[in-house]
Amino acid sequence: MSIEWDAGRLDSDLEGVGFDTLAVRAGQQRSPEGEHSEAIFPTSSYVFRTAADAAARFAGDVPGNVYSRYTNPTVRNFEERIAALEGAEQAVATSSGMAAIMALVMSQCSAGDHVLVSRSVFGSTISLFEKYFKRFGVAVDYVPLADLNGWAEAFKPNTKLLFVESPSNPLAELVDIAALSEIAHSKGALLAVDNCFCTPALQQPLKLGADVVIHSATKYIDGQGRTLGGVVAGRAELMKEVVGFVRTAGPTLSPFNAWIFLKGLETLRIRMQAHCSSAMQLAQWLEQQPGIERVYYAGLPSHAQHELAKRQQSGFGAVVSFEVKGGKEAAWRFIDATRVISITTNLGDTKTTIAHPATTSHGRLSEAERANAGIGDNLIRVAVGLEDVADLQADLARGLAAL
Ligand SMILES: *Cc1c(COP(=O)(O)O)cnc(C)c1O
Repeated sequence: MSIEWDAGRLDSDLEGVGFDTLAVRAGQQRSPEGEHSEAIFPTSSYVFRTAADAAARFAGDVPGNVYSRYTNPTVRNFEERIAALEGAEQAVATSSGMAAIMALVMSQCSAGDHVLVSRSVFGSTISLFEKYFKRFGVAVDYVPLADLNGWAEAFKPNTKLLFVESPSNPLAELVDIAALSEIAHSKGALLAVDNCFCTPALQQPLKLGADVVIHSATKYIDGQGRTLGGVVAGRAELMKEVVGFVRTAGPTLSPFNAWIFLKGLETLRIRMQAHCSSAMQLAQWLEQQPGIERVYYAGLPSHAQHELAKRQQSGFGAVVSFEVKGGKEAAWRFIDATRVISITTNLGDTKTTIAHPATTSHGRLSEAERANAGIGDNLIRVAVGLEDVADLQADLARGLAAL
């Protein structure tokens, strides 16, 4: 027996509402059952009323689902919600953050094109460009993130795309996104921003002039370390090509994961506020400790780009990196002395994590490349979670005592 239900009062009521209202409500298509929370649709295909209906839906003459590699109601709900939060016309969900980057480049670039990438991006992003896209004739050069003149000078006549992560990992460097957008557009190139560290709760790159935002939803959008996913968002005309690639090649997001991310988005801003508040307290405290040489956190006035961070972001994020007095052994003793914080390289979780970049995320770089990237042997990265900040401080104090 199915229940007759007025499923109305949804999207049409969301004109002009604020970020938190969109985070909780955007994109929901309530089914005739009248469920209050978002439904999961675990189905690979869809039935048609008649052969003619099937033909019309396949031809695109009548809107509707055909196959879940193309569209799925739960995935679409997530796409519409994240598009609303980023201020994008359209978003396309993918099976991971890396799949989002692959879909962006595969849909926008061809053999013979040139891409500029900021030097300090996620390790797998560099591997994707170096090992794979280069094989298909896409040339890649790397530019120091903050160096606007360096970006302008690195252009070639065939430069199609700029790809940046701001803030960067693990040293929290920034680029002025509005200024870099202007440079990109004056040369006819697109600017894509990996907004994983800030999320739309702290930074909305499209509103600053970027053309595309990508996410590893695996991080703060889930926020609870449960699953992988990604998203590409931007103008409909650009997303049309991304949709085409994802539908054809199939790095599609599962409806169950889309549902996890939908639920994650509902608490995104309050979680980010709590992450940022604890990170700030710990960064300020660390900066006062005699065992610490230097703290990298854009919320501190000592950070070289503190003013830009205040202008460009509404919070400073949850990644705090610092150099301890001593070398690798001292850093390892610090890490091993912690008892609450998890020793892992992941971030964007309720659980605080601690890692030694020089021997993990950046371990495959040569010593010279590491030095060039500013990754010292005495550098430690903490991604601050949602535990009591007093307990986190006590845990870091154990690390300091072990130096
Ligand atoms: C984790 C991460 C990625 C890759 O995302 P996956 O979901 O692991 O594929 C890309 N960019 C940044 C900044 C990341 O932290």
